[in-house]
Amino acid sequence: MSEFPASTVLGYPRIGPNRELKRALEAYWDGRSTREELERTGAELRAATWNRLAELGLAGLPSNTFSLYDQVLDTAVLLGAVPERYLEADDPYFAMARGTQGLPPLRMTKWFDTNYHYLVPEIGPETVFKLDAAKPLSEVREARALGHETRPVILGPVTFLLLAGALDRLADVLPCYEELLGALAAEGVAWVQLDEPALVADRAPAELDAVRAAYDRLGGLAVRPGLFVASYFGDLGESLPVLAATPVEAIGLDLVRGQAHSVPGKIVVAGVVSGRDVWRTSPELALARLRAVSDQAAQVVVSTSCSLQHVPYDLDAEDDLDPALRARLAFAEQKVAEVVALSGREFTGTAPAAPSVELIEPVVVEGRGPYQARAAAQAEHLRLPALPTTTIGSFPQTGELRAARAAVAAGTLSQAGYERRVEQEIEHVIRLQERLGLDVLVHGEPERNDMVQYFAEHLDGFAVTRNGWVQSYGSRCTRPPILHGDVSRPEPITVRWARYAQSLTDRHVKGMLTGPVTIVAWSFVRDDLPLRDVVLQVADAVREEVRDLEAAGISIIQVDEPALRELLPLRRSSQEAYLEWAVAAYRHATAGAGDRTQIHTHLCYSDADQILAAIDGLDADVTTIESARSGARILGAVSSFGRGLGPGVYDIHSPRVPGEDEVERLLRATLEVLPRERVWVNPDCGLKTRTYEQVEAALANVVSAAHRLRQAP
Ligand code: GLN
Ligand code: ZN
Repeated sequence: MSEFPASTVLGYPRIGPNRELKRALEAYWDGRSTREELERTGAELRAATWNRLAELGLAGLPSNTFSLYDQVLDTAVLLGAVPERYLEADDPYFAMARGTQGLPPLRMTKWFDTNYHYLVPEIGPETVFKLDAAKPLSEVREARALGHETRPVILGPVTFLLLAGALDRLADVLPCYEELLGALAAEGVAWVQLDEPALVADRAPAELDAVRAAYDRLGGLAVRPGLFVASYFGDLGESLPVLAATPVEAIGLDLVRGQAHSVPGKIVVAGVVSGRDVWRTSPELALARLRAVSDQAAQVVVSTSCSLQHVPYDLDAEDDLDPALRARLAFAEQKVAEVVALSGREFTGTAPAAPSVELIEPVVVEGRGPYQARAAAQAEHLRLPALPTTTIGSFPQTGELRAARAAVAAGTLSQAGYERRVEQEIEHVIRLQERLGLDVLVHGEPERNDMVQYFAEHLDGFAVTRNGWVQSYGSRCTRPPILHGDVSRPEPITVRWARYAQSLTDRHVKGMLTGPVTIVAWSFVRDDLPLRDVVLQVADAVREEVRDLEAAGISIIQVDEPALRELLPLRRSSQEAYLEWAVAAYRHATAGAGDRTQIHTHLCYSDADQILAAIDGLDADVTTIESARSGARILGAVSSFGRGLGPGVYDIHSPRVPGEDEVERLLRATLEVLPRERVWVNPDCGLKTRTYEQVEAALANVVSAAHRLRQAP
């Protein structure tokens, strides 16, 4: 087997330094360009990436890390796992990714504990696997034409099947992998990377058997490239000895989140530069980690802890960052340079330390009484009807609003002019909700570009980037804020908008905040403090905002936690401790509110049924939760839920308008499992991605279905 290149990365961003892929995708989807033009943009981005990595001195270049939408979807295509019904579509790939008029897309969910979403492969007993190796082969050739030898990156068979819930199909899928390895060997490829991140979670004995079977078999092939099995997002634990006993030549360890292990006789691809944060690597720490795995290893390769797809491209694209902060940062390009320097063991220079630390201890006892007492006080104070109707917070974000924000940034619209524009939008949304007959109103969140970035912009201790885009799914990117110092709230953030909205109407307007866990989950956070302490600092700032909203006369305050499930540790042994402090942080944020003030929370995009007891433990008076989109699956788990609950009755991810009967049916199903006095009526999530036309029609049906059932016995 040939020597492994001395330095590498497990993957690289692909959306383009200026989101070129996003623009090309949207142009293609809108019919403004052709598939060929889209492919050309893809090829340009790949070429630019390989050339740049080589220029930075990286020895081992990966290929097949590019994707037009998602690498898991690409793997399904590679293995022929395309459900029959999509084959009719004009473009089956994007039909699976995004759906068509008559065809819903594949299910989408979060990639391990990241904010990246992948498409869940649909594999049934009828699925016939058949290799289509065009993409990895053509990327190898493309790179070669530019003078680069590359290592194709492929999702490994065990993780692929586990994500699809179809590990029982291993024997059927392995022949495709064997054929692929043969084809790559024939192409002259020296190394292939098989990603197996699922092996850092708890694995049952039968699953470990599958790992053994898969890699004994692939390793036993007579003609094949060197096999590098990459793990990331944690420690391989009990999977490591299993993998180490197979004939694979190289094993990747995440040494940032996992432990150092000695792996006798294998090449260790040592992930010492973090792919999950934006901090410069400490040379002492990285070199110590490299030393810790070198004993007995056949070779130690310097690498990133995971693909760099989770960080922005280039720190040099940020002109506005404070120089002291900037000196502590590294984005993808800078991290590649660190890997290269470490591989020459000539990496020195220490990043400046993070600033002082103020530790917060959660306070939950003060303020709120037991739920029953609060419910009585709120019923008295709020005087809401049975089955109250509400929405989750945002109303459609119109093009004019985005244009107004851009105009402020460009200096062509004054701050005062912008604020007037926001107030007009709030008034419009309030009048609309009054007309529709909703009971608890919202201001519509027109002032927010994003539910996390908006708060980061108004809190001390955070920085926001200009161009630090990270792919969330397909063409969608976010710019995660950077939480770099002690967090505090210099002044109220949302109070003026909430007060303005409340001044327009006699109905209750809900104040709308993002919760501490979600703010932290969707930011890059300082790594010199335990996550718990960082979340508590944010919780303390949210707590002040809750109190100010209450003092401003807002009687209902919603604190969203859609990311509560996302941060759940991958290993069961750490889950309880996480849920304990996450719940404590939420309660710290909300427990300053008096008994008469009704606290709402909201969750979505996750398998929330798995953590329902913890959600109940948040002790919010009302929880609104996505349900319609996932076929009301959550209703099977909620009967023991002890507080107010609004399982969504309107799937806002779809342009479809649900009929009144459909909403009524969902409501009746809810009333079968929950007592009437605790049921709320609401959509699955915020309405910002929908049009006003869709929203008006759908909410009219939601309100009339609720009214019908109020009358019914
Ligand atoms: N209040 C937010 C909204 O309505 C909640 C969004 C979310 O749950 N992701 O947009
Ligand atoms: Zn939501």
